[in-house]
Amino acid sequence: MHLNPYGESAVHLAAALANRRPGTAEELADRCRAAGLVVDGPVRPADLARILALLDTWESVVDATDERERAERLNRMLAADAAHPRLTDHTGGWHLHYRDDHQSFGAVLSTLIAVGTAFHLVGRGMHRLGRCAVAECATVFADTTRTGRKRYCTQRCANRDAVRRHRRAARPTNGSARA
Ligand SMILES: [Zn+2]
Ligand SMILES: [Zn+2]
Repeated sequence: MHLNPYGESAVHLAAALANRRPGTAEELADRCRAAGLVVDGPVRPADLARILALLDTWESVVDATDERERAERLNRMLAADAAHPRLTDHTGGWHLHYRDDHQSFGAVLSTLIAVGTAFHLVGRGMHRLGRCAVAECATVFADTTRTGRKRYCTQRCANRDAVRRHRRAARPTNGSARA
């Protein structure tokens, strides 16, 4: 997976992994492959442990209540997980890496998530990470919609909330006597 200018695939992968945490190193590798990441080295339990810890930190970026706090938390992730950018042509075409060569899979994925999230937020808007507005759902999402006003993880949750609001509105209000 190469970072596109908006970090879209990386930030969606982070959300998917945060919402449903991989249970084994194999599962982590499989799901990263399915998301388009080239996994060419071994993926070990230590990589899984590193990513599970990283996802906790990443969720604290999602849950930051204001932009500045969100930026500070992500800056701490970048300081820990990204190196200076460098040009590489290991795949034939020149592109940027934000990490040193020969890193473990856990380190590579950590960099991808931190830098991808940074691209996503500065490219599309600092508010474009959130949790589903249905209280008992709380699924994390990266908002890549055109309008940037995503509130629900899925259409299903949006419908669920609409039905609820409709019922509330239809309920007769006590004490408001209308003659
Ligand atoms: Zn590369
Ligand atoms: Zn939801």
